[in-house]
Amino acid sequence: FDKDYQQWLLPHDGYAPLVTKFDSFYTRRLKDRLGDCFSRPTTGVPGRLIKVMMRRFAERRVFAQLEVTGEVRDCINLSSYNYLGFAQSVGQCTDAAEEAIYERGLIAGGTRFNGGCSDMHEETEKIVAQFVGKEVAMLYSMGYATNANFFASIADRHCLVLSDELNHASIRTGLRVAGAVVKVFKHNNMKNLEEMIREHIAQGQPKTHRPWLKIFVVVEGLYSMEGTLCNLPELIKLREKYGIYLFVDEAHSIGAMGPHGRGVCDYFGVDTKNVDILMGTFTKSFGATGGYIAGSKELIERLKVANMANVYAEAPTPPVLAQIQASLKTLMGEINPGEARERLQRLAFNTRYFRLGLLRMGFVVSGHIDSPVIPLMLYHPSKMLAASRLLLKKNVAVVLVGYPATPLLSSRIRFCMSSALKKSDLDYCLQKVQEVGDEIWLRISQQTGKDG
Ligand code: PMP
Repeated sequence: FDKDYQQWLLPHDGYAPLVTKFDSFYTRRLKDRLGDCFSRPTTGVPGRLIKVMMRRFAERRVFAQLEVTGEVRDCINLSSYNYLGFAQSVGQCTDAAEEAIYERGLIAGGTRFNGGCSDMHEETEKIVAQFVGKEVAMLYSMGYATNANFFASIADRHCLVLSDELNHASIRTGLRVAGAVVKVFKHNNMKNLEEMIREHIAQGQPKTHRPWLKIFVVVEGLYSMEGTLCNLPELIKLREKYGIYLFVDEAHSIGAMGPHGRGVCDYFGVDTKNVDILMGTFTKSFGATGGYIAGSKELIERLKVANMANVYAEAPTPPVLAQIQASLKTLMGEINPGEARERLQRLAFNTRYFRLGLLRMGFVVSGHIDSPVIPLMLYHPSKMLAASRLLLKKNVAVVLVGYPATPLLSSRIRFCMSSALKKSDLDYCLQKVQEVGDEIWLRISQQTGKDG
């Protein structure tokens, strides 16, 4: 025990210090050792390449500070959300954003409710609704806040929410704020979900006789830590059978999944009318920021007055709206016809090529074959820092994920695929991942490409 530890463990005068350094032994010790995996500063555009600033521990002690060394590395970027390559600095999307700054400035100038509503907002909402296939849509300036504020507008303690165990923190926060009764079902386990529904209502029981005002099932389209897809066809069957409301968070699937990039409904070939609420963000596929809720007119009318993020927070800003419009219009073929198909096909190809490359080399890779999030399992957290630093040295930038975002022994590298990457980039990265895999014993079998 050093002094820091004692100060952290023993409250002063029976009083905990205002800021405890870490909330548990594991997070504290792990964060300390793995610090260099996280919040690594970059500079420049997070496009096909990324400039990563190298760091070192300033001193060898508990709570050691990391300092940048001055060295900047040009890496192939498998670490940024840029599924369709719209985050590049060249291309019409960022040009559109630049024009919007000159014409309309940087800020919205108020909340959507009061002072910050422009024709551009209404126009963008129409495009979003049309793209996702819903009657109307509503925009928010942050994806996290979209979820964190949404549920309180339509649910309360008289409502039951059945939530997938791997749902994003923003959803969990939103459900807490709403005060709804939340039951968590096992990830993607439809049998477990149906059992839970049956525990709470009898089949065929009229909605008016149920002990709940409303029942929601809340899932994500594509899970960002696992790379798994929700079982949408089964969820829709349950929705019909039991008369429940279905909410799908498409933060990672919108733009990235389906032949037209219109998300999981597009991927599974089902009508969007089977999902009551479609939520999504513009941060992963569209090179912008913010989130949306798409649904019926009644729902959106309700959100206009009851959603705190609409009433009290700055509306999305002009350059962001311009970027969203330009990328969506490109995907709908209104700008540069043909470009959408090319971007979508390149993403789909890259995704399968990279995932199959890793599997063929004998790595353990989790998730769906078409998921642009590709987690390579490290399991033990001790491998995280080594994997991250060794790949950086070989000019490959990746994201490391571990406890508490995953169970303690489920650490992983998370590769984010992008249509901006060339096949030669992927071949280079696969080669480097293989070298690192051999250095830190990651491969469970060592097949050659020939028999794979
Ligand atoms: N929902 C999901 C499923 C997410 O993964 C994220 C962010 N990674 C969000 C919501 C929040 O979106 P944003 O980062 O755009 O605020």
